[in-house]
Amino acid sequence: MSDLPIRPYERQPAAFHPWDPATREVAREVARLVASACSIAVVEHIGSTAVPGLPGKNFVDLGMEADPDDIPAISEGILSLGFGRQQGVAPFPPTRPMFTGSVVHDGRSHPIHLHVMPPARGELAELVAFRDALRADDALRDAYARAKQRIVDAAPDGEANRLYTARKGGFVLDALYQLGIRKPPADRPEPLPPGSTIGIMGGGQLGRMLALSARAMGYRIVALDPDPGCPTASVADELVIGRYDDVDAARRLGALSDVVTYELEHVGIEAAAAAAEGAPLRPGLAALRATQDRLAERRFIREVGEYTAPWREVRGVAEAEAAAEALGYPCRLKLPLGGYDGRSQVRIDSRAGVADAVTSLGGADGRPLLLEAEIDFEGELSCIIARDRDGRTLAFPPAANVHDAGILSESVAPAAVDPLQAYDAAEIAERLARSLDLVGLLTVELFRLRGGGLMINELAPRVHNSGHWTIEGAATSQFEQQLRAILGLPLGSVAPHGTAAMVNLLGTGPDRDARLAGVPEALHDPGAHVHVYGKRRVFERRKMGHVTVVGTDADEALARARAARAALRWED
Ligand code: ADP
Ligand code: MG
Repeated sequence: MSDLPIRPYERQPAAFHPWDPATREVAREVARLVASACSIAVVEHIGSTAVPGLPGKNFVDLGMEADPDDIPAISEGILSLGFGRQQGVAPFPPTRPMFTGSVVHDGRSHPIHLHVMPPARGELAELVAFRDALRADDALRDAYARAKQRIVDAAPDGEANRLYTARKGGFVLDALYQLGIRKPPADRPEPLPPGSTIGIMGGGQLGRMLALSARAMGYRIVALDPDPGCPTASVADELVIGRYDDVDAARRLGALSDVVTYELEHVGIEAAAAAAEGAPLRPGLAALRATQDRLAERRFIREVGEYTAPWREVRGVAEAEAAAEALGYPCRLKLPLGGYDGRSQVRIDSRAGVADAVTSLGGADGRPLLLEAEIDFEGELSCIIARDRDGRTLAFPPAANVHDAGILSESVAPAAVDPLQAYDAAEIAERLARSLDLVGLLTVELFRLRGGGLMINELAPRVHNSGHWTIEGAATSQFEQQLRAILGLPLGSVAPHGTAAMVNLLGTGPDRDARLAGVPEALHDPGAHVHVYGKRRVFERRKMGHVTVVGTDADEALARARAARAALRWED
């Protein structure tokens, strides 16, 4: 048995308890120990146990500040006391680590969380100010206790305590603003009123559904697209014709808009920056940079401390061969820029296939490509999170997605996964959205690993095909949520109405005028909703529309949505 003062942390089921006075003694004891081991002045007792009378999980949270350069040395000091590094799928990054341990006090074991925070973010100051406000104001403390209790009461049986940490954030954030602990920027504009104009870079189906939602809310839409007949054209108030990388056209779009967003991440960065000269760009330029290039995206995810499939940047056949041997087969070679719906990626089964794969993606000239291990996943999930301009986040329940040769084919939401996994997915999305400091939606595509873990596949700072179910299946659609966030309005409820199944309607056959037959038959099921994107031409596997059914369980909703889709066909 180790004689270190801090004992290992046991991930025990958390429970919601009345405040435990012993936690104060424990905090004092451990804070002293940490301060002397790391030779720093102050370790603060933070979190719910630091507020007498406040119920919670009774985990003792301690916080300290350290300059980024000192964090490695301080981490060593902390580990030498017996603390461990935080485990789990979404741990804090090494640049802002959290350590876990426990101590026995009066015969009882108390779990400890020790947070080390760089001062620049002001995170500790905020936590301490909130703690002091709660200590000083019984009414605030009681309101917080009630908010926690409501979350616990509303959670499904047995899940209350695991879920409530995720949901109490809204209360805290509101309190921070109300107490003046966190201040909105002095130059913060008012929310945009109806009648304002929203610019959209891209005029595809996502832009169209965004525009429909915007119109319902009384806003004007101007869209940028090279095609005057694009799906958004017929529902926009105005169209700017130009490619997604046309700087002048984007500048015109910005000048016509009060806020600009994008419906695809493959817009030119210079063009997006030009649009941003005229109006704020949301979710933001950083989000665009981090997600439009798959290599930049992998690096960003790594920096945040999250996981993707093992990957390598490769240039040319020889490098690709060496990397493929290291990663193993099968693996996937992807073009960093411009891929979607499974295009611009090739599966490699063996060394013999590497050279052809590189050539087929135009990589023989030595341009950088992304090579990654193929993951044998149990399923795919996506989590769409909204972040408002004050930093509040709200995640839709995750959707379970099935792809067919790289194209999304079906989504069911809420996904039938362990609530803890759903919570982890939202936690990952939260962390990424915060790191990008985005305002609007972030979609995180995830692999559900067979061991129960999650791995990030791809990010999209926008509305997403796997969120179409929210139109009929949630209190607020992803389109309205995106608009609320970028307009500066409060976010809407993400509560699902039941279990929704969304199936994509793809094109079939040769390139020709699009004429859809079978709609009356599809709508024979009164709960089926057929969405058609208004594309003029149809061809094999083109995304043309989708069908949603909100039912009582996944199998039933999916069977009905598939049946409705089966009635639809593209005429010759
Ligand atoms: P796109 O931008 O075309 O959506 P993705 O990288 O998301 O590209 O790939 C599309 C689909 O292909 C994924 O949703 C998944 O089904 C499959 N896929 C992609 N990469 C991998 C991988 N490394 N392992 C297993 N499946 C993968
Ligand atoms: Mg994808």
